[in-house]
Amino acid sequence: MGWGKMVADQWAGISEDLRSEIGESNHKNWIAPLECLGADSGVLRFRAPSRFVGDWVKRTYHDQIFARVRSVSAEVARLEFVVGDAPRRMAAPAVAPVKPAPSEELQSAPLDGKYNFDNFVVGKPNELAHAAARRVAEGGNVTFNPLFLYGGVGLGKTHLMHAIALELREKRPDLQVLYLSAAQFMYRFVQALRDREIMDFKNLFRSVDMLMVDDVQFIAGKDSTQEEFFHTFNALVDQNKQIVISADRAPGEIKDLEARISSRMQCGLVVDLHPTNYELRLGILQRKAAQFAQSYGSIKIGDGVFEFLAHRITTNVRVLEGALQRLFAFSSLIGQEVSLDMVQDCLSDILRSSERRVTVEEIQRKVAEHFNIRLSDMLGPKRTRTIARPRQIAMYLSKEMTSRSLPEIGRRFGGRDHTTILHGVRKVEEMRGSDSQLNEDIELLRRLLES
Ligand code: ADP
Ligand code: MG
Repeated sequence: MGWGKMVADQWAGISEDLRSEIGESNHKNWIAPLECLGADSGVLRFRAPSRFVGDWVKRTYHDQIFARVRSVSAEVARLEFVVGDAPRRMAAPAVAPVKPAPSEELQSAPLDGKYNFDNFVVGKPNELAHAAARRVAEGGNVTFNPLFLYGGVGLGKTHLMHAIALELREKRPDLQVLYLSAAQFMYRFVQALRDREIMDFKNLFRSVDMLMVDDVQFIAGKDSTQEEFFHTFNALVDQNKQIVISADRAPGEIKDLEARISSRMQCGLVVDLHPTNYELRLGILQRKAAQFAQSYGSIKIGDGVFEFLAHRITTNVRVLEGALQRLFAFSSLIGQEVSLDMVQDCLSDILRSSERRVTVEEIQRKVAEHFNIRLSDMLGPKRTRTIARPRQIAMYLSKEMTSRSLPEIGRRFGGRDHTTILHGVRKVEEMRGSDSQLNEDIELLRRLLES
């Protein structure tokens, strides 16, 4: 019996005072759920319903609570917040104190330290997205909300999001930055529903300073998750908290994303990461090579290798990076410099799959141009040699250079039968054995179509 009991008895009054100071909803979320347990040699203890609540209160309201309890008893030297399942008071606190939330619940998905701003190569296609990410990473006033980053796969969305979170973690450790994928958001939501911890879930997501959700297209069509996301989103925007979203396409183009959500998303700044261009790919290769050199030791890269890769692997930076990594590993294994020959050997699969896709229509157009005939004649019924020969060459190239079947090619040649196509292909194969002019024509056309 001592000052501890005295403070505990007065806790209800102190808590009421705090309500007017910090506002109804903060009070409801953070102060009301605390249970004052009493004191032990200068330490006044509170029980919080979860570690998350405890940490949060300590971080945010410690001084206000401390000042007030000190005014009741000057013997309080320190506050402590514990989490545990001791018997609950009967009056249910506003935040249902279900089982203590594990502290990982607050944690972001793991961040990859390599995905920082220093390692992000900036070029025309991504300069706007980069500038916007930089701005958000300053952690200053919220100027656009949300920041919506979109673009095709492997263009650096996740990299930029990690970079923002890493930078803020360093510069503004006071801010709670929560980064996770939309899939993780949904997983936690479903779990909270199942475990009847939905209030904890809501409080958690509404109490962060910045929320970053990657690949938001994932929740499209998942109705209750979308709904919850929308409420979270609105609550944070109302509190002027920064939100950063990524998706594989523009908000309005995400199928099954509710219209009200997509229109809220467009209220902020929507920026896209464009497909890479040659200069950017070259820059990325040089930067990654410098990074890899740290793990593989210095490796000599032959002339023209970077240029060749930047020219040939055009779709996805991740694939480009994988190709380079493979070359480094191979080169360090056999102790030779990376040459163009090694590139061909070592990356034949990647190079094949990233070959430019040629369409039957392009082939027809190029062949018609080359032999100076009309496209309509190429597709039409005329059988004169000056037209039939180029037509057969186009059939042959279509078979060789595309993955279309003979019937599919036939349909594209004015609805011809697949046996006609087969006949044309055979004819050209046969003639190639003896006709060097024909061979030259075909090789030239092939190069034109591949470039
Ligand atoms: P997304 O999330 O858009 O699919 P990622 O951010 O995962 O793409 O990027 C794929 C890979 O490419 C990552 O390893 C990333 O570091 C790299 N990458 C993409 N763009 C750049 C860039 N501009 N500079 C450096 N690395 C990049
Ligand atoms: Mg990604």
